[in-house]
Amino acid sequence: MSHDALISELALANRLLVNEDVLDTFGHVSCRHPDRPDRYFLAAALAPVTVGPADILEFDLDGALLTPSDRPLYSERVIHSEIYRARPDVAAIVHHHAPAVLPFCVSGQRLVPVTQTGAAMGPNVPFWDSADDFGDTNLLLTRPEEGQSLARALGPDWVVLMKRHGATVVGRSLREMVFRAIHSTSNARTQMQAMLMGGVDALTPGEIALAGGDLKPSPVNRTWNHALRRLHLLESGITG
Ligand code: MN
Repeated sequence: MSHDALISELALANRLLVNEDVLDTFGHVSCRHPDRPDRYFLAAALAPVTVGPADILEFDLDGALLTPSDRPLYSERVIHSEIYRARPDVAAIVHHHAPAVLPFCVSGQRLVPVTQTGAAMGPNVPFWDSADDFGDTNLLLTRPEEGQSLARALGPDWVVLMKRHGATVVGRSLREMVFRAIHSTSNARTQMQAMLMGGVDALTPGEIALAGGDLKPSPVNRTWNHALRRLHLLESGITG
């Protein structure tokens, strides 16, 4: 994929993850620079639904801005910097506060795969509490050590819940991350509804390994195309 095409897909990922109820006013999406693993792309501090290709900026792994710009920046970009530093296999990240996932972040109830696509979360969804390392904070991650603590909690996994805050989802590609973000959010919705009906029968470890162990391009691209068409249907009706 060309550089321009990747930037265009990153901008689209911002908007389609809003349309899929993963992102809202806040939250942010990034992808690693394909030729410079020590750099990544992230939008200026905007509502994700408004992000276009011209809003995408380039950063190094210290979160320093490399694109000449005086635009406001996301204060929580240490999440991206420190996960890219800790996880060479990760090529894309979304940090979000999806309403379907927040009840798990508040209650401490474990998020477990209960659907075939939910298996993309992997066998373990770790739970990070900023208070364990930092005591009382404003809940935003703005210092490198906070990003490092979150990256340690994520470990080798794909989704980390953040207590009283939200979640961070990673992938080996932008589209894989989008697949995992959409389906982990819908898994959370289904799991909570099942809990209201009396209980949850999660996938077995063997089922999780078979269903989610190695995401193939076909379902990943199908989810991307589905979400993209839904976004286009929405945006084609918007005139101003
Ligand atoms: Mn946040």
